[in-house]
Amino acid sequence: MTAMTDSLTPTDRSAVRRLADRGHYERAVVNGILDEAYVAHVGFVVEGQPRVLPMTYGRDGDSLYLHGAVGNAMLRASADAEVCLTVTLLDGLVLARSAFHHSMNYRSVVVLGVATRVDDAAAKRHAFDVIVDHVLPGRSQVARPSNDSELRKTLVLRLPIEEGSAKVRTGGPIDDEEDMDLPVWAGVIPLRLTPGPVIQDPTQTIPGLPPPVPRDLWTLTVD
Ligand SMILES: Cc1cc2nc3c(=O)[nH]c(=O)nc-3n(C[C@H](O)[C@H](O)[C@H](O)COP(=O)(O)OP(=O)(O)OC[C@H]3O[C@@H](n4cnc5c(N)ncnc54)[C@H](O)[C@@H]3O)c2cc1C
Repeated sequence: MTAMTDSLTPTDRSAVRRLADRGHYERAVVNGILDEAYVAHVGFVVEGQPRVLPMTYGRDGDSLYLHGAVGNAMLRASADAEVCLTVTLLDGLVLARSAFHHSMNYRSVVVLGVATRVDDAAAKRHAFDVIVDHVLPGRSQVARPSNDSELRKTLVLRLPIEEGSAKVRTGGPIDDEEDMDLPVWAGVIPLRLTPGPVIQDPTQTIPGLPPPVPRDLWTLTVD
């Protein structure tokens, strides 16, 4: 097993090429984005055809865990195969004076690698905990643990965070000099994912249970 370093080493396929100064490889940046996002888009190949599906995930150290039904075509095709996992945090709409220079502010991560099956029962349970705690910290301690039947019905994959990159855009529009005096509003509309007030399940029979506290969002700033 390779020792965990502070940074991912850019490779031929993981180095950000366009606007390379927006590329980041430090684990602190990559992990910060992975820990804040809720949804990963996983790209894989089924019988020669590319597919990309959104799913939830969890991170433990340098491992990402994915899970789903054992019949899930994506997970079956991804087991012991090359996958590409992407997460995106959309931070703002960047409106320029020209249509061409419209953009978005974002923090995104791409992880490339071979996903392997996790079959050991204890390791699978750990992966379940990592995924449910990613959604809501500490949830694995209060929710009923998965039973043996649920464990058998679930396929778990581990993707190492060894090859990949983050890309971050911040700031306002970058217009051409000759457009600066055009009478067109320019600037940024910031966007944030924010939790709303909780809605307790009306069928809940036990009164007074403490409502969950969502994890902090917007914890990571990248220069
Ligand atoms: C919300 C959003 C909207 C975008 N809209 C556009 C658009 O409309 N048109 C457009 O051309 N680009 C868009 N991008 C940027 C796009 O994701 C690529 O970065 C870009 O197309 C050029 O990549 P490249 O040629 O450097 O990468 P490639 O040479 O295609 O990829 C090489 C490697 O660079 C890394 N990489 C590339 N992009 C990213 C990324 N976004 N995050 C993390 N790692 C990355 C990956 O490891 C990848 O394997 C958008 C990004 C986001 C997050």
